[in-house]
Amino acid sequence: MSADNPDKLDRIVAEARRAADQRERGYREQALKIYPWICGRCAREFTRANVRELTVHHRDHDHDNNPPDGSNWELLCVYCHDNEHQRRLEAIGGASRSSANRVSTYAPFADLKERLAKKRPPKG
Ligand SMILES: [Zn+2]
Ligand SMILES: [Zn+2]
Repeated sequence: MSADNPDKLDRIVAEARRAADQRERGYREQALKIYPWICGRCAREFTRANVRELTVHHRDHDHDNNPPDGSNWELLCVYCHDNEHQRRLEAIGGASRSSANRVSTYAPFADLKERLAKKRPPKG
């Protein structure tokens, strides 16, 4: 009789996983029903062929907040979705540092002035 305990645990885990899976599939389907298949950021359009690349983003970043009217959802392509979460991370911490680092320090004309100065005949 007690032999079914491990099975039970397995089943509970499997069920929890399935429930989470179903919930996600549920709101995704719902969102795809409510909204046109267009990325809310780059306006890329999607069809059945590539709708896998269209993701459901949660505006408040709370995946458990799924109002049936879709007010917390936004359809974003995978790239814009990535961006959105990246921006969120940057907003939470170290925004100034990471954006400053992203600015390239490569300046192709940095020594142009110097080179021109050398060519120019010295004054006086
Ligand atoms: Zn996009
Ligand atoms: Zn998201």
